[in-house]
Amino acid sequence: MAKASSGRVVVISGPSGAGKSTLRRRLIECAPVPLVRSVSATTRQPRPGEVDGVDYHFLSQEEFARRRRRGEFLECFQVFDQGDWYGTLRDEVTAGLAAGKWVLLEIDVQGEQAVARQYPDAISIFIRPGSVEELERRLRGRNTETEDAVHLRLKEARAEMAVADRYRHQVINDDLDRAVGEIRDILTQTEKNANA
Ligand code: 5GP
Repeated sequence: MAKASSGRVVVISGPSGAGKSTLRRRLIECAPVPLVRSVSATTRQPRPGEVDGVDYHFLSQEEFARRRRRGEFLECFQVFDQGDWYGTLRDEVTAGLAAGKWVLLEIDVQGEQAVARQYPDAISIFIRPGSVEELERRLRGRNTETEDAVHLRLKEARAEMAVADRYRHQVINDDLDRAVGEIRDILTQTEKNANA
C-alpha cells in the first residue's frame, strides 16, 4: 500500500529573465503533486500589474528589517547589489508542509543554500535560459528594467549559472512545454521514490 504522501520543499532558482515565473505559474496549474507557492517578501517596488500578497508581500525597508529581527524569515538576502531585500517567510513554508503540500520557492542561489541547510531533502531545480543572448533579449523585452538594472541582472545571471551544478536538477527553459514536462517528471519521480 502506498504511504500517505507528505509535503516537500521544492526550490527553483535561475537567472532573472530565465522564465521562472511563467514556469512556476504553469507548474502550479498542472503539477502531479499538491504544489503550492510560497509568496516571498521584498522591499523592491511593485512592477505595473503586480499585486501585493499575490506576486510578493511588498514591504518597506523598516518592516522587512523588523520581521528579520523577529526571525520571521527562513532565509533572506539582498539579491542584487542595489539594496533591495528578498526573503522567504517561515510561515509560508511551514503552513504548506503542515497541510501535506509541496511548497514551491522561487528564490536566488544564496537562498537555496540557506534552505538546503534547513530542509536537506528539498528538491532543488536550476532553470537555465536557452542562452545568455536569449536572457538579455527577455530582460530588455520586459521594458520594466532600466539599462543599469539590465546590466546588474546579467552580471548576477553569470554568477548564478556558475553555481548551477550544486542543484540536484537542471532544466533548460528554451521551450516552455518541454521544461514544464521535465519538472513534472522530476516531481513524479521524487514522489515515487519516497513511496517506494
Ligand atoms: P524579481 O525582482 O525579478 O521579482 O526577482 C529577482 C530575483 O529575486 C529572482 O530571480 C529570485 O531568484 C529572487 N528572489 C525572489 N524571491 C526571493 C526570496 O524570497 N529569497 C531569495 N533569496 N531570493 C528571492
